[in-house]
Amino acid sequence: MTSRPPAVFACALIGALLLSACSGPASAEPAVSPAASGSIAVPAPTSEPAPTASAQAEPSTEPAPPSVPASASASASRPATPEAIAPADPPTRRGTASVSDDRTGKALDTPFTVDGVVVVSKKHRVSAGYVPPWASQPHGLHPDAYAAFQTMAAAAKKDGAPISIRSGYRSFADQKASFAKAMKQYDEATARRYYAEAGASEHQTGLALDAWDGRNRGTAFARTKQATWLAAHAHEYGFIVRYPQGKTDITGYAWESWHLRWVGKEISSTFGPNSSLTLEEYLGLA
Ligand SMILES: [Zn+2]
Repeated sequence: MTSRPPAVFACALIGALLLSACSGPASAEPAVSPAASGSIAVPAPTSEPAPTASAQAEPSTEPAPPSVPASASASASRPATPEAIAPADPPTRRGTASVSDDRTGKALDTPFTVDGVVVVSKKHRVSAGYVPPWASQPHGLHPDAYAAFQTMAAAAKKDGAPISIRSGYRSFADQKASFAKAMKQYDEATARRYYAEAGASEHQTGLALDAWDGRNRGTAFARTKQATWLAAHAHEYGFIVRYPQGKTDITGYAWESWHLRWVGKEISSTFGPNSSLTLEEYLGLA
């Protein structure tokens, strides 16, 4: 199934006639490949402890989705049936039959990608043989992701919502231990909603991180001003809240207000503030 952000072509075509304000989401930009930016000799960071979900029992059901569109500013005067005059295909492809994960064996040493965007999830795993080239960088993060976080953290601090990195890169072995611990600590369903098995964690890419305020872990973080700030502003720095509320059936994971994925500004700007869009939907994997 393919899910696309609302098209704006109808606006472009009829805008002159209706003189309506078409402020829908920008048309999707080409995917940006989070390619390695060369090796930089930096001492390996101390490995952070695996995050733990709230010590309290998680709710058995998720709250209803917030129903926040990718852009809340869609024109009210949009024609009733824009699809009727919208082009059949947008200029940038979002999911087609060619998007399939056929990796087996040694190919699993390399993550699945769509238009250059790395996807590691329950459905798109990596083997223990995959170690990103930036694993020895600060927090094991891609240098551009780390730099983007620092810029974002400075802005958040200025706004009175200081954030830091609680967990960045995790190796296959780290993730294996983290999942095993969670399975002992929680019931299996809860563990599987918040923790990834080794090979299925985005943390293994060094393109994702868990942010926090220094105090509130897991679901408690959602109630902090930091979480509110990140939901509203992370996209300005190239990050998306990777597991939005109400999208567990698509992402495979519970709402994690703290888990950020770096995708670069071209993609994150398409997501916009307070987005409930998932990377799977964006890439046509949903
Ligand atoms: Zn995380």
